[in-house]
Amino acid sequence: MSSKKPSKVIEGQEETEALVLGEELRPARWEEYIGQEIIKENLQILLRAAKERGGLPEHILFYGPPGLGKTTLAHLISKETGRAMKITSGPAIEKVGDLASILTNLAAGDILFIDEIHRLNKSIEEVLYPAMESGTLDIIIGKGPSARTIQLELPPFTLLAATTRVASVSSPLRSRFSGGVFRLEFYSEEEIEKIVKRSAKILGLKTDGSAEREISKRSRFTPRTANYFLKRARDFAQVHKQDLDQETVGRALKLLGIDEVGLSPSDRRLLETIAHKFSGGPVGLGTLAAALSEEEATIEEFNEPYLIQMGLIERTPRGRSLTSHGYKHIGLSVPKNLQEKLL
Ligand code: ADP
Repeated sequence: MSSKKPSKVIEGQEETEALVLGEELRPARWEEYIGQEIIKENLQILLRAAKERGGLPEHILFYGPPGLGKTTLAHLISKETGRAMKITSGPAIEKVGDLASILTNLAAGDILFIDEIHRLNKSIEEVLYPAMESGTLDIIIGKGPSARTIQLELPPFTLLAATTRVASVSSPLRSRFSGGVFRLEFYSEEEIEKIVKRSAKILGLKTDGSAEREISKRSRFTPRTANYFLKRARDFAQVHKQDLDQETVGRALKLLGIDEVGLSPSDRRLLETIAHKFSGGPVGLGTLAAALSEEEATIEEFNEPYLIQMGLIERTPRGRSLTSHGYKHIGLSVPKNLQEKLL
């Protein structure tokens, strides 16, 4: 990667590092996009109906944990509709002027993709409302009593946006995604297995089926993680001159500290901290983050969704608590009160 500052609008290949890393594996056609069937069907109807009417698809918001395929859906919509896509992200838009310049530089029919839209600040969000609703940009000129607003007509465009924290997207903004707000679900093991098979083929790897199965079991039901594990197992197999099979995957992942259900060292540290420092919880997010020296957002976006999905912790209004499965997973005996809850 070059060290140059990312531009506010990024096109084509010049995306963030994470995206570039996964680029060769990113599905380029709907048939290659495995799973999320309901979302795919809804999108295809939306796109087809817009095409038949000769109009643009309406604005769409995707949400869900990282690596589930939100950005990929945006790329597929751009390909399907044959419309150019400009890519930017919430943190890259620092000032109202940044957004105004992005919007006024769109060509008619373009798609604008804003990743991490929850990180747009309030004053920038307010510029987006009329742009999304009526295709206008309201610019305030001057200050105080002499200030006046001029309205610029924008080229028609479709806004696609993604977020890992839908609760942090204000409801006025959410309600303006008239095409729909879609939640991406974790994948099934079978779906991840198919994704890994496809990736192995693209990377030209010889596997025996057992490698794909092992990766899918440990990949947190997340395509990006599965692809990452496949590449690390490939490296391990290459360096140790081993076949890429279940055993090699196991050894490669062990070296990365990934356990048999896909928990990373930071996941296990979180479980252990709740158990040892907070008597199993409930513990508030802020307190937990401080105890782990971790950002609250990292815990909420990266660790928790999978730990909750696996039933290892639960989130209650009073905070996070370890479940009986959580205790067992880190090799502790289940406290009496939780045993009673099980009966
Ligand atoms: P997000 O935007 O939700 O963080 P991405 O769309 O960047 O996730 O997906 C991460 C990577 O995972 C992609 O580059 C792609 O290789 C893979 N991927 C995601 N969803 C799918 C899918 N449904 N089928 C196949 N591969 C997928």
